[in-house]
Amino acid sequence: MSSSPRPTWPAPHKACLALAFDLDGPTGDAMLNGSIWQKPEYFGFGGYGPYRALPRLLDLLDAFRLPTTFFVPAWVVENWPKQCQAIVERGHEVAYHGYKHESFYALTLEQQKDVMKRCREVFWNHLNIRAEGFRTPSGDWHTETPAMLVEAGVTYSSSMRGDDRPYLVKVPGFDTPLVEIPGRWEMDDYASLAYTRAPDFPSGLDRTASYELTLDNWCREYDGAMDEGLCLTTLFHPKITGKPGRILLLEKLFEHMRRRDDVWFATCADVAQWWLKEHHHD
Ligand SMILES: [Zn+2]
Repeated sequence: MSSSPRPTWPAPHKACLALAFDLDGPTGDAMLNGSIWQKPEYFGFGGYGPYRALPRLLDLLDAFRLPTTFFVPAWVVENWPKQCQAIVERGHEVAYHGYKHESFYALTLEQQKDVMKRCREVFWNHLNIRAEGFRTPSGDWHTETPAMLVEAGVTYSSSMRGDDRPYLVKVPGFDTPLVEIPGRWEMDDYASLAYTRAPDFPSGLDRTASYELTLDNWCREYDGAMDEGLCLTTLFHPKITGKPGRILLLEKLFEHMRRRDDVWFATCADVAQWWLKEHHHD
C-alpha cells in the first residue's frame, strides 16, 4: 500500500491507463549510421510494423474501444503515410518520436531543434495535425531539451522512468510546466518478446519469454498500478506485439483491463491536460 495521497482522476474513475505504442518501423541506430541499407532483413523486421502489424492492431483497438497514443518517428509517417493517417482517422493520438529515432542526448541543441521542426512539418503535411506529445527515442535528453520541446509546441513528454504518476517539469522561461507521463520497462514488449538474429537483440539471448508468463507479468503490473490509483502507460511496439500470435496476447490483456469499471482509459494528451488542470495553479 502506498502512503502518498492517491491521485484523483475524472469521476467516477479511480485510476488511469494510457495505452501507448511506439511505431518505430525500421528507424533507429542502424538507420542513423546507415548500416541498415546493408541489412535488408533488419529493414523488413522494422517495416513490418507500419506495413502489416498496425492495421491488425487498429482493428483490435476498435474492438475494445481503447483510445491509444502512437509515438511515431516522422520518417515512418513519410514512408507509410496512409497507414499513419488511419491512426488519426480512427480516433487515436499521434505524437513525436524523433525523425529517425534519434538519441536526443547525442544531438546539439540546434540539431534537436532541426529534428523537431522537420517532425512538425511532416505531421502537418501528411497527417494535418499539430502533435502535443513527445517520447524521447532513447530515454534520455539534455537539460535544455524540455524548453526546446515547449518552444516546439509540446505540452507533455512520456520519456522518463522515475515515478508511477505523472508529474510537472518546470521549464525555465515558461509559465506552464511540461507534464511528464513516465513509462516503465516492465511494460515494454521488447523486454520479453523482441528477438532478431541479425542484429542479435537483445544481445546474448536466444529465445523470447513465454507468452503466458508475459501476459501474467503485464496483468499484474496493471492490477498493482490500478489498485493504487496510479497512471500506467505502455512502451509497446506494433512490430513486436502486432504479429498474428502476439495479437492474441494483447487481446487477452485488453480483456483483463476492460474487466475493471473504475479505470479511466485515455490518450496521453488527455492525461496531460487533466494533470495540468489539477496540479498547476499559477
Ligand atoms: Zn521507439
